[in-house]
Amino acid sequence: MPSVYIKTYGCQMNVRDSEAVAAQLLARGYTLAPSEDQADIVLLNTCSVRDHAEQTALNKMRALAADFRRSGREVVLGFLGCMAQSRGEELLRQLPGVDLVIGTQKLHRTAEYLDDLLRGRRTRVVDTAPEPGSESAIREHLPAGDGSGPVTAYVSIMQGCNQHCTFCIVPQTRGPERSRSIRDIVTECRELAARGVKEITLLGQIVTSYGRRPGPDGRPGWLAPDEPWPVPEPESAPKRSPFVRLLEAVHEIEGIERIRFTAPHPKGYGEDLIEAYGRLPKLVESAHLPVQSGSNRILKLMRRGYTRERFLEIVSRLRAVQPGIGISTDIIVGFPGETEEDFQQTLELCREVEFDNVFLFKYSPRRNTPAATMPGALPEEVIEERHARALELINSIARRRYAAMVGRTVQILVEGPSKKNPHRMMGRTRCNKIVVFDGSPRHRGQLLDIRIVRAGNYTLYGDPAIVGFDSGAPVSASSPAGPEPAGVPAG
Ligand code: SAM
Repeated sequence: MPSVYIKTYGCQMNVRDSEAVAAQLLARGYTLAPSEDQADIVLLNTCSVRDHAEQTALNKMRALAADFRRSGREVVLGFLGCMAQSRGEELLRQLPGVDLVIGTQKLHRTAEYLDDLLRGRRTRVVDTAPEPGSESAIREHLPAGDGSGPVTAYVSIMQGCNQHCTFCIVPQTRGPERSRSIRDIVTECRELAARGVKEITLLGQIVTSYGRRPGPDGRPGWLAPDEPWPVPEPESAPKRSPFVRLLEAVHEIEGIERIRFTAPHPKGYGEDLIEAYGRLPKLVESAHLPVQSGSNRILKLMRRGYTRERFLEIVSRLRAVQPGIGISTDIIVGFPGETEEDFQQTLELCREVEFDNVFLFKYSPRRNTPAATMPGALPEEVIEERHARALELINSIARRRYAAMVGRTVQILVEGPSKKNPHRMMGRTRCNKIVVFDGSPRHRGQLLDIRIVRAGNYTLYGDPAIVGFDSGAPVSASSPAGPEPAGVPAG
């Protein structure tokens, strides 16, 4: 059978989509190639969030098409995902070597379309139409190659976004919010737990909106079509959002030790979710809270639906419930009309919150978004200069917070060999910090208490000798250790 290589650009959702497509292709008899040079089919799963991401994928495809033309190799070339969705047919005109363009609601049809192309039933395929139910089609996971499957897994709980922030293309590329049922998600998580997965990250464009939109028949979006409605509940049952109900349901699953989620929206941090951090021990002390700007004027222009004051209140409520919580964020610099004063307010917010990690983006105009035609577009040099200043501050705060971890004992889930040095092992703290240590492959999947001896660049180093294991028998494997010690800075 032909072999396929999938290259993924962009966020965790795209990583998850690629994995599901790869698993579906394997199930249909395709094989997975280790590199594009050994593949009969090369698929680029694309990102549209910034122009840079689109250009990277376009350049890659141009280079691939030219290489294959030169070498005379017959390779099927395709685009999947967000850019495929937003550009559609246009990609075939731009890049004549491309055979396949599959949008975000048709990913599960990749095998079917490849069969059509390979059997000569069609010469080119473009499908970017909406498909009801497609939110439930991203559920397959790759089988473990060598009997040792991954310890962590992404689970897609919903698709789409209804927020319509003025800078963002996602509502165009992913469509409106559609949620899978809690029952379906729990079944997938149970299967993963049975395969040895210990940590689940629930994924969606705005996970805190999970289940809020009614299904096509007017029933709650988080109920399967054949489940009874209304759900019988005692009068005294506390009111919880569908997302918190989902967290509770995943929390029940035996074998799952940790739950994470991304991306939430600050608007979705209601009291029920904040309170869940104190009530559900498997929900790790980590929150990604995309703030985007520290200026109320810019937040309003972005149509974010919260103020700087409300954002700070959420951070302080979370820290009241879990003092050691790790907090990360997304920030955009250079939004149209951003003044030096607005930018200073963003820097001030960073100093006040002391984020553990910040994903910092230069504003990139996206087609058909309101911000793209707003007055006050900033020159490239100004955006670059503000980006550099923000990065310097963010890195200095993070360095301090990481350095303050030295000497503490933290619980890590050991994921496998370190990417940079495969002779060492790596794990993640509950607060989402990477820890590298001298372990052995048998530590994979274990929850270990480990003492931090050194802090590097967004990485901590632990010394296993200090916790007293050298034979693969950790002192406190599976210990119910809590988060890194409370107080500032967090772990
Ligand atoms: N769910 C998140 C939220 O709260 O809006 C958004 C996820 S988005 C795919 C990831 C990040 O990309 C955003 O939080 C934002 O910081 C950044 N981003 C989105 N559109 C952008 C644009 N036009 N220019 C620069 N950065 C952008």
